Amino acid sequence: MSAHIPFSVPMLRRPSVPVRVGGVAVGGDAPVVVQSMTNTDTADVKATTQQVAELWRAGSELVRVTVNNAESARAVPEIRDRLAMMGISVPIVGDFHYNGHQLLTDEPACAEALAKYRINPGNVGFGRKKDAQFGAIVEMAIRYGKPVRIGVNWGSLDQGVLAQMMDDNHARAQPWDATTVMREALIVSAIDSARKAEEIGLGRDRIVLSCKVSGVQDLISVYRSLAARCDYALHLGLTEAGMGSKGIVASTAALSVLLQEGIGDTIRISLTPEPGESRTREVIVAQELLQTMGLRAFTPLVTACPGCGRTTSTFFQELAKTVQDHVRAKMPEWKIRYDGVENMTLAVMGCIVNGPGESKHANIGISLPGTGEAPTAPVFIDGEKKRTLRGERIAEDFVAIVEDYVAAKYVSRGG
Ligand code: SF4
Repeated sequence: MSAHIPFSVPMLRRPSVPVRVGGVAVGGDAPVVVQSMTNTDTADVKATTQQVAELWRAGSELVRVTVNNAESARAVPEIRDRLAMMGISVPIVGDFHYNGHQLLTDEPACAEALAKYRINPGNVGFGRKKDAQFGAIVEMAIRYGKPVRIGVNWGSLDQGVLAQMMDDNHARAQPWDATTVMREALIVSAIDSARKAEEIGLGRDRIVLSCKVSGVQDLISVYRSLAARCDYALHLGLTEAGMGSKGIVASTAALSVLLQEGIGDTIRISLTPEPGESRTREVIVAQELLQTMGLRAFTPLVTACPGCGRTTSTFFQELAKTVQDHVRAKMPEWKIRYDGVENMTLAVMGCIVNGPGESKHANIGISLPGTGEAPTAPVFIDGEKKRTLRGERIAEDFVAIVEDYVAAKYVSRGG
């Protein structure tokens, strides 16, 4: 007799020390947090405020901004204040390279306004200045009560750590290959830097680590090892993931393996926007990754078949897009008014082959007529056929059914 294999393997989160970033909990028992980063000039207060607001509206729970000069540092408190006037209190994370110690010292209002500082041990300073500059940033974090992400990146790996690891490797009876040395150097750089920050006085509950690389297998290997060797909260992301489907697939491939193993307390999808594309795409991809894995729910998902020779027109694709766009546009309002609406499932199917069956599995599903079928579209609500739509207004009528269902099914937060 064959052994019983359970259908679902319970996912255990790796234990990590919880960190508070502004009003957002990262690590510990907190759900995996979605974050993103602006690509505006931070010194341009108007443009950056607008983009932070867009990212927040899309669902980004933390937003990182570049702080690379005095102008951008001075802009941070104003951006925070403008957002507050818009009713937005998303924590803003400052991304520092090379001169972070100077900017945080010279611009105390910036140091106070930021919810977290992100520093990279590989370029916090060079030569004899490195330790002093690293220490200065950590001391500012202690003074202002801020957490720090120690974010190592293989594109800017601490050369001192790498050189030491190469020397150690040469002395081995059986030297590691170059990839293994590089992966180990990333992990050592991150963990040693975190330990140094603790020695200076930064609490473990103020430290988040990341070790970003651009290769999927490298990322999986590095984070598995990092997760096994420390309990700091981990920021997870594939760096320089790329553009379009390549960036989405590569990020999803790497992050889903690690998330399934319980590794990762906050994620960012580092997509290169296509020309003219909204920066919010990276937030939507991060949410969809977490939601399709069953880790969190953000917005109702639309199940749609791919279409085939049985679909008679592009109407089926247009309806799927209309419905997905509608629920995404309505979600900011719905999530304030209706408890649990993010768990709703919808189905838009192209013909009778799988249409009724898939529609019955959704809260609301519609099975459009395929080639040769009568021009009617049965609508299934909670598993039962309740309506039949036909004619020119199928899209409008279906959206109205969704609206009625939401109002009737989900408990109003207003009481
Ligand atoms: S449900 Fe129908 S239209 Fe959609 S892919 Fe299957 S057979 Fe094709």
